[in-house]
Amino acid sequence: MDKTIIEKIVALVMAELAAKPTAIPVELSARHVHLAQADIDALFGGQLTPAKDLSQPGQFLSKERVRLIGPRGVIDNVAVLGPARPESQVEISLTDARILGIDTPIRQSGEIKDTPGIVLSSHKGIVGLDQGVIVAGRHIHMPAKDAAGFNVKDGDLIKVRMNSSRPVVMEDVLVRVNDQFNLAMHIDFDEGNACGWKQGVPGTIVAKEPSTIATNQEKVVEL
Ligand SMILES: [Zn+2]
Repeated sequence: MDKTIIEKIVALVMAELAAKPTAIPVELSARHVHLAQADIDALFGGQLTPAKDLSQPGQFLSKERVRLIGPRGVIDNVAVLGPARPESQVEISLTDARILGIDTPIRQSGEIKDTPGIVLSSHKGIVGLDQGVIVAGRHIHMPAKDAAGFNVKDGDLIKVRMNSSRPVVMEDVLVRVNDQFNLAMHIDFDEGNACGWKQGVPGTIVAKEPSTIATNQEKVVEL
């Protein structure tokens, strides 16, 4: 093949690659709570005070803080995120779950059916939640244009390599597509420490994958 044609093809491929996003910003989610309005009333007398905007539009860190009270231990000074949600939800790490003595499942945000409860307190009040304690499943917020660029869709579970000082491939990362989102992957402190996360260390999509269960079933069939 003519050398100039090869060079042209290479240039086209490189341009195509350059146009597609490859790196995903990774953010650490510290333990935090989302509160229903009734619980904001009971704990803080009706209002959250925004202190800092978060990466997802409309979400903010408030000045208010709560104490988490579990059967084995307490954790103080826990961040409260706004705005109010239909149901209160407490997002902790598995390490926190051990400290509190609460056997906590890994769930995506909002999926709190049959999750354990907890007691929250502030300087003004105390609230008992019947449910709502979760370890948040790792996920990526993606606007539609990025989903198209990565060739993934809402609800996909993918593998992401953390390009950090202790590199790790994270499996079962849920893709959440919504044009209200900014591109960001969210992991918790346990996950961040496991891979030596630092600010600015990106993740890279390694593979789209079926769920782990499906993979195991395939193996059984092969045997
Ligand atoms: Zn998130």
